[in-house]
Amino acid sequence: MESQKRYTPVYSCEFFPPKSEEGRSKLRDTWGRLAELGPRFFSVTFGAGGTTRDRTVETVQQIQQDSGIEAAPHLSCIDSTRESILELLATYRARGIRHIVALRGDMPSGMQEPGEFSYANELVAFIRAETGKHFHIEVAAYPEFHPQARSARVDLENFRRKVEAGADSAITQYFYNPDAYFRFIDSCESMGVDLPIVPGIMPITNYVQLARFSDACGAEIPRWLRRRLENFGDDLESIRAFGLDVVTDLCRRLLDAGAPGLHFYTMNRAEPTTAIWRKLGLQRQAVSAEDTTL
Ligand SMILES: Cc1cc2nc3c(=O)[nH]c(=O)nc-3n(C[C@H](O)[C@H](O)[C@H](O)COP(=O)(O)OP(=O)(O)OC[C@H]3O[C@@H](n4cnc5c(N)ncnc54)[C@H](O)[C@@H]3O)c2cc1C
Repeated sequence: MESQKRYTPVYSCEFFPPKSEEGRSKLRDTWGRLAELGPRFFSVTFGAGGTTRDRTVETVQQIQQDSGIEAAPHLSCIDSTRESILELLATYRARGIRHIVALRGDMPSGMQEPGEFSYANELVAFIRAETGKHFHIEVAAYPEFHPQARSARVDLENFRRKVEAGADSAITQYFYNPDAYFRFIDSCESMGVDLPIVPGIMPITNYVQLARFSDACGAEIPRWLRRRLENFGDDLESIRAFGLDVVTDLCRRLLDAGAPGLHFYTMNRAEPTTAIWRKLGLQRQAVSAEDTTL
């Protein structure tokens, strides 16, 4: 964890682009409330197979205009061509976007070919080659390893490829076992991979939904946590109170050990993130280019 300690912590929040007017209005309220905490940036996901491309662009633009917080679109390889990526990068440049989360993405069922880029490292290299240092590029990291990885070692080597292709920082898949993160950082350090790797944080508010997500993305809910959450049945209030305790404790341990910030998977809701933020006693973050690692 030593290398991570020299980075100034960066706090950020992730949204998905809403489909309906009602969803858009709720999200505006959410980012308004989260902006008061002073996060460094808001990121917006990119749907499987590019299905949200236009909505991602729109949402990013609105965040940038309305919230006063930097917006970072996610971009994936699935169904993308060099031309479509260039077009999107030009749109983002024209709209003053300087920050991108570059991913491979997951193939929607029924789709056979990923597109012109097979892996995130190819996308990162392409963005760098075409746009130089214009964008701050984030990539994904997996402290519990990517579910399709042949082995932990191969996954680490593939992570290194993305860093060598030009990533500036990384955000992890969520996890509830801090040792997985600490070990991941130590392995990166011993491979000479040195960049801020910010833990992704998933607040716990609904066990059924969390279990479904976790199965799909390969994030482990430890047995003790699973059994406790199961015990609450459909008592959502108790799940939230318990989840708040567990996740705040996780965040505290990560920050105390030197994690370079936290990235909250908000699911477009403000309350679970603000509750953790306040319980952690985080001060409003200074949004100044000089005192961040971005
Ligand atoms: C912070 C974060 C944000 C995300 N946002 C989105 C989003 O907006 N939209 C979305 O669709 N998904 C998103 N995802 C999910 C992500 O797209 C999936 O986890 C996907 O399966 C992997 O994407 P990646 O960029 O990590 O892929 P990669 O880094 O390309 O890795 C994918 C797999 O291929 C292997 N691999 C990597 N490079 C090579 C190579 N050169 N040769 C052989 N094997 C290789 C890796 O070991 C791994 O098993 C996000 C994930 C995270 C952690």
